[in-house]
Amino acid sequence: MKTMNLFGAAIAAMITLSAAGNSIAGKLNVVATTPDLASIAREIGGDAVDVKALAKPTEDPHFVDAKPSLIVTLNRADVLIEGGAELEVGWLPPLLESARNEKVAAGAPGRINASQGIRMLEVPSTLDRSKGDVHALGNPHFMIDPVNVKIIAGVIADHLAQAAPASAEQFKTNLATFASRLDAKTAEWQGLLAPFAGAKIVTFHNDFFYLAERFKLDVIANLEPKPGISPSPAHLAEVIEKMKSEGARVILVQPYQNHKTAEAVARQTDAVVLDSAQQPGAYKDTATWFQMMDHLVQGLAAALKEKA
Ligand SMILES: [Zn+2]
Repeated sequence: MKTMNLFGAAIAAMITLSAAGNSIAGKLNVVATTPDLASIAREIGGDAVDVKALAKPTEDPHFVDAKPSLIVTLNRADVLIEGGAELEVGWLPPLLESARNEKVAAGAPGRINASQGIRMLEVPSTLDRSKGDVHALGNPHFMIDPVNVKIIAGVIADHLAQAAPASAEQFKTNLATFASRLDAKTAEWQGLLAPFAGAKIVTFHNDFFYLAERFKLDVIANLEPKPGISPSPAHLAEVIEKMKSEGARVILVQPYQNHKTAEAVARQTDAVVLDSAQQPGAYKDTATWFQMMDHLVQGLAAALKEKA
């Protein structure tokens, strides 16, 4: 196909041009698909790495705009961290194919699949893609459980040490510092949410399930009838009834989800719509994963208190 060849040639030219500006002062080029993974890589890599995220903080990680500039970023990567479990299946594979970078090919030491190290929840017993479910390999939104993040930080430290053995000790030290801070913050977040154990919440997409499991909350409904499928009037009517009968009065909505739909449901259920990004950088002063989690947990505790 002529158009594909032209596109390929354009990309090749971009990659050649970019080669001149390769890695900054010997730093390892680490690329993460999403800002949460990038933030953890920065904690572990410290000043030995230069970290970029492919998705914007306000972008749906299932549907990232596959801009050609991302191919250049992937071509220069020494290490690629993906969430996995098909989170990026809709956009990452074609970008990787065009980037032609053996260092981050599947199975290479420079490739990290975060989902492989953790206990995945909601793995369907039968695979049925016919209904458009985007969680066919289990729920891929596991980075809001600190226990998972601790495991993934360890995997990242191992891979970074393989890619840059001279900095292995530094990564080990950074990991230890990160893990102890994480333990302290986890206890703090548990303390903030403990008074609301068993509280019922509603989410737009099924993206806060791991947070709910860790902090003993109960997601009773999603506004989407299935992950990735837009809310229908019939489904929303069921959700409204369920919220009224079970007393759920907080709806969590991420920046890229439909706030108007959530507000309409909230008006009929005396609920509050809580802006709840799970990517660092979506809101002011939430540039790191820790800051994002603080913002999320504090906001959730305040909303649950207000609507208790
Ligand atoms: Zn999802």
